[in-house]
Amino acid sequence: MSNKRIKIGIVGGSVAGLATALFLKPCHCDISIFERSPSELAERGAGIALDPEVLDPIGGVAGHNITGRIIIGADGRELWQTPIHKYMTAWSLVYQQLRSQVSSQNIQTGMRITHVDSHDDQAAIYFSDGSKQSFDYVVGADGLGSTVRRFVCPDFEPSYCGYVAIRGMVREQDLPSESEVLKRWADSPGFVNCFVKNSHVTAYWIPDSDSPTSQRTLNWMWYRNCPESALENFLTDRSGKGHRWSLPPGEMSEQHRKSLLHEIDQLLPEPFASAARATETLSEQAIYKGVPGHFVRGRVALVGDAAHIAVPHIGAGVSLGIQDAMAMADCFKNHRNHNDAFLRDWGEKRRVKTKADLDVAARIGMSLQFGNHDYLNWRPSDFDAWWKEMVAGHHLYFED
Ligand SMILES: Cc1cc2nc3c(=O)[nH]c(=O)nc-3n(C[C@H](O)[C@H](O)[C@H](O)COP(=O)(O)OP(=O)(O)OC[C@H]3O[C@@H](n4cnc5c(N)ncnc54)[C@H](O)[C@@H]3O)c2cc1C
Repeated sequence: MSNKRIKIGIVGGSVAGLATALFLKPCHCDISIFERSPSELAERGAGIALDPEVLDPIGGVAGHNITGRIIIGADGRELWQTPIHKYMTAWSLVYQQLRSQVSSQNIQTGMRITHVDSHDDQAAIYFSDGSKQSFDYVVGADGLGSTVRRFVCPDFEPSYCGYVAIRGMVREQDLPSESEVLKRWADSPGFVNCFVKNSHVTAYWIPDSDSPTSQRTLNWMWYRNCPESALENFLTDRSGKGHRWSLPPGEMSEQHRKSLLHEIDQLLPEPFASAARATETLSEQAIYKGVPGHFVRGRVALVGDAAHIAVPHIGAGVSLGIQDAMAMADCFKNHRNHNDAFLRDWGEKRRVKTKADLDVAARIGMSLQFGNHDYLNWRPSDFDAWWKEMVAGHHLYFED
């Protein structure tokens, strides 16, 4: 068994990159993370659902367990309830928890990588300033538009699903009385959905980012169909600049915001529409899908959204990224005399598992956004049958 320390270069210092650093460090690894953003990322994310099983390994974060999901119809009626087990928290709290466990000495910010390559026993990272650094292994944790993925799987492109998510957060004290019943559904059973024809909304409590242990915020997401031809317009910010994947909070033009809120008023029952009207800032993300044919090439591996595009309908993207890192660490522990095969085995196992999960998520999204379902005439047994068709025998982390 070799005692030589292993040099790992990680591209991307967000949740998947930090989790990779956290779990590989105890495996005889020297870690260097390269993040293109010059500043901390903590303000970027909204609410997320987490697989409760990743909580202990990352040392816990503020949030709460929920026990069920309720579906509301366009007329505000309760249509279906089903038990689920998820942990609701905020992206920024998960990021901060991971960040607090990785030393600043291991992270270089403001470093944009342009490409990577891999030779017999080394992998290299090339930077936009023309410099290069070599490692035993390189991990691409550089998200949806991954540069590292272009080396690992050059033919792969994320495919646009045909809809966007409009996201908002409202502090509990700012919610109007018209959304009282929505607050109660979010108290119990916890995960609230409103299904209307070819569109849907999700809502749940998350810890308030300023006072995570004492106050809470309602996190909501409205999925709106948007043909690819209109996407450019949808992702143009208030200064007229176009964005590739998302419009960050505060960047949406007033005109676009007003027009979305008008649509919400027409489409959704009052408890949801009034919560949307009370929301100060909207953000928007185009929804993409796809899992490349492999996660590993030579000594370069992909984790997180770089490896698998997290279609959001099973609330799994962050958990999958953390689990990629935990499984990779197990491999490093168990294969101290490394060769490329052990990393390929890890990649294939993770690919099969995440593809099966995300295929379900993509199927749910297509059905909810394009299935033309007449939910108001569905009975609970119709919802049961629909869900059975969606999961097609696959076990999701949040089901019994
Ligand atoms: C609408 C919506 C709802 C969601 N809901 C949930 C949910 O409920 N639960 C859940 O778990 N997940 C959810 N997700 C998914 C989750 O947000 C992502 O899966 C997760 O944030 C991905 O983390 P990551 O670290 O892989 O990538 P990212 O967070 O995208 O990080 C990539 C990092 O790489 C850096 N980078 C990129 N290119 C370069 C380069 N060339 N050089 C250097 N650095 C670079 C970037 O600056 C960034 O910091 C949702 C996503 C969407 C769109």
